Amino acid sequence: MTGLGCSTEAQADALVRAAREAAKQAYCPYSDYPVGAAVLTGDGRVYAGCNVENASYGLTVCAERVAICKAVSDGHRTITALAVAGGNGNAPATPCGACRQVLAEFAAPETPVYIAPLKRGRITATTLGALLPGSFSIGKPHRPASPTQN
Ligand SMILES: [Zn+2]
Repeated sequence: MTGLGCSTEAQADALVRAAREAAKQAYCPYSDYPVGAAVLTGDGRVYAGCNVENASYGLTVCAERVAICKAVSDGHRTITALAVAGGNGNAPATPCGACRQVLAEFAAPETPVYIAPLKRGRITATTLGALLPGSFSIGKPHRPASPTQN
């Protein structure tokens, strides 16, 4: 991970703010570990999500996948940045392997991923490609644009 350059600071701040706000809606009675995430779509929309836990633990859905699914279900097929906010300054939440693979479906390897503590603290930046080298792929997907978005 690297520090942020000036050109990405505003984008990172906005996405992290949205992720932190989304974390306030986290449903995490089992872990008490709220996480928020926000994605930026190709046309500049922001979609945010929180983790949603379940009594059957394996059914829990991470904040990142909630945010991605909200964007996709609203017709978007391209994600150009993702932020996640959770944990603390010593151990901020990073996207799990499943979320990295799901992001790879809609984002290029150079897509920035911003990782921030839940409340406050330094934002670190990395890329999807750095987080998930050699992601699984069965070739170029056929991703028809939705009737309303690209
Ligand atoms: Zn995850």
